[in-house]
Amino acid sequence: MTAIDFVHWSNKFAIWADNYRKTLRSRPVRPNVQPGDISSQLPVSAPETPESMENIFKDFEDKILPGITHWQHPGFFAYFPANATPVSILAEQLCNAIAAQCMLWQTSPAATELETVTLDWLRQAVGLPAKFTGVIQDSASSATLAAVLTMRERALAWQGNTEGLQSNKQIRIYASDKAHTSIDRAIWISGIGSDNLVRIPVNGELGSMDIDDLKDAINKDREAGFTPAGIIANVGATSIGSTDQIKDVATVAGSENLYLHVDAAWAGSAMICPEFRHLWAGVEKADSVVFNPHKWLGVQFDCSAHYIREPEALVKTLAIQPEYLKTHGKDGFVNYSEWSVPLGRRFRALKLWFVLRAYGLEHLRTMIRNHVSWSMNLANRLDSEPDFELTSKPVLSLFAFRYVPKGTIEAELEDINQKLLNNINDDGRIYLTQTKIGGMFMIRFQAGSVETTEADVKLAGDIICELARNPV
Ligand SMILES: *Cc1c(COP(=O)(O)O)cnc(C)c1O
Repeated sequence: MTAIDFVHWSNKFAIWADNYRKTLRSRPVRPNVQPGDISSQLPVSAPETPESMENIFKDFEDKILPGITHWQHPGFFAYFPANATPVSILAEQLCNAIAAQCMLWQTSPAATELETVTLDWLRQAVGLPAKFTGVIQDSASSATLAAVLTMRERALAWQGNTEGLQSNKQIRIYASDKAHTSIDRAIWISGIGSDNLVRIPVNGELGSMDIDDLKDAINKDREAGFTPAGIIANVGATSIGSTDQIKDVATVAGSENLYLHVDAAWAGSAMICPEFRHLWAGVEKADSVVFNPHKWLGVQFDCSAHYIREPEALVKTLAIQPEYLKTHGKDGFVNYSEWSVPLGRRFRALKLWFVLRAYGLEHLRTMIRNHVSWSMNLANRLDSEPDFELTSKPVLSLFAFRYVPKGTIEAELEDINQKLLNNINDDGRIYLTQTKIGGMFMIRFQAGSVETTEADVKLAGDIICELARNPV
């Protein structure tokens, strides 16, 4: 390979990264580019001969960076956060250098054992009982797929992997109609089919699955000859934070002998604060739970914490042991690749370990409490403005609103709010996204960036009001 000055570039990138973080506020959160603007600047084929690092880096700065959405920007209030503390970034630098494949215990014993230890720290931190064992998945989508496959195999007496889904048993899975699309995809990929995902309507202030409807659906399905296999419950669903009553759902799952998986992808990180745990009361009765430290705990993507009450069922579903993957002459270890769909695994535990140690739980709790209270203040402010309306009550740091200027009629509001959202995002100081509930268009707000301050959230309120009342 061509020699490059590794130390020179590595140092240069460290200085670049520091400056990047410090200048985030001066950049538009979402780039103002059109589809094709970036790719049209790039050659259509790879070079035959080496190019200099100077040129490559210059193109990175000139052509790539202007097309980046800055997720670590303090004005990032869109979607859900994908926050990254500086310590997490540093840990990833070490992982990059080591570049280990951590699929089996023996392919990096320390990676496996650190994963076991840090996930147990995190389990205690969020108040899950000791009977839960954790594994780091690349994403909540993967954890939910693993859970759905486990539901399927359990319901098919562990024959599905060999016989396929030809048996007469038509499996049914239940979730609220606010569940994330990762659940739909898990149902597709597992071969269960979206017709067999039964959507239960929600009610109540938190948007919880109607328990009677859930019971009815299960009973009707049994009578019709279907095989109910599992329930997926939400804690803080993506659109407006809909949250199921886990305790009640778990009671149904228990009496119906169904597997219960809890998707707390975003909200789960907040459970390091005991005062928020009422949101998932009853979670100890679930069979598995997933949440993403890569969303709101300062541990950058990818780090999804998947806790399982009986890992044996998961391993029975996913493990496959050809001779070339066996470890002879040792026992008393786990091979985490048997707990997930992909074989290959990055060394993900290191950044979690660094973050938990460098900040400590108290500091992380303060970060989350700040996000929640700043966001709540903004919700209260918009609620008190005569021309704004809160369209969803805050759940942790998430709420939705719309602009309702005097004299407008309902039919005009979607257009007005879509234009307001476009103006806000073209302005570039903050970034927000939208959702629709029951046909009503609304703008979402969530605070979760590690760089966000109280002043940033206040400024967001000023920008929203200013651009609503004086559209550009
Ligand atoms: C973000 C999110 C997911 C998907 O998370 P990935 O880690 O990106 O797969 C699933 N469920 C909910 C509720 C989410 O907010």
